Amino acid sequence: MTDAFEESVWTEKLGAGANRLGIDLDESQLTILWRYAHMLRERNEHVNLTSIVSPEGILTLHMLDSLSLATDLGDAQRLIDVGTGGGFPGIPLAVACPGREFMLIDGTQKKIRFVAEAIAALDIRNARAVAARAESYPAEEKFDVVIARAVGPLADLLRDAGKLLAPRGRILAMKGKDPATELAALPRGWAAQVKRLHVPGLDADRHLVTLTRAR
Ligand code: SAM
Repeated sequence: MTDAFEESVWTEKLGAGANRLGIDLDESQLTILWRYAHMLRERNEHVNLTSIVSPEGILTLHMLDSLSLATDLGDAQRLIDVGTGGGFPGIPLAVACPGREFMLIDGTQKKIRFVAEAIAALDIRNARAVAARAESYPAEEKFDVVIARAVGPLADLLRDAGKLLAPRGRILAMKGKDPATELAALPRGWAAQVKRLHVPGLDADRHLVTLTRAR
């Protein structure tokens, strides 16, 4: 992924996909995400960060899939990506939304070390990466939105990360299939909304679950 032609084709596709999601990425944002993809592939040769390694797969299944959440962030200023793994969805969202602050956490040291190094190397100033599990993250620090992709059942996410939410905060959980069984297992006191997400170039089920405190 170092060839200039390959970079221009990849970034053009990413820009067009982002447009279809209602997001405008300028050249510098596209270049940062290209470089991030490149760093991810390189580190993945030594550390298991992701099973998706092709440039096309990273473009659709990591970058655009992550960005499909962007228009649901509302006016949130402080966000935490719980279980970010190789930096998804937190990194693409932080690059696309420079006016918001993103905290990225993961319980696996080697993954978060990569994410922190990449944030520093790419100078993504509105993102920080910290090695932590949600359940032991300081509960005094509150966020407008908790985001999570592919991080266990909803009831567990709520139990571990619910305390990090500001009073009117929301949990946005990205799921594949409609998580009806997981929704049935939610504790009282929380309201859930489910909507389909559409990822350009991807023919697969994607759902966004929004959890809020019931009033
Ligand atoms: N969100 C990334 C993505 O979609 O590519 C990674 C998903 S991976 C399947 C799940 C990640 O969540 C793992 O890296 C794991 O270490 C992390 N994780 C699971 N439970 C967690 C918790 N309670 N606190 C912090 N990280 C957690």
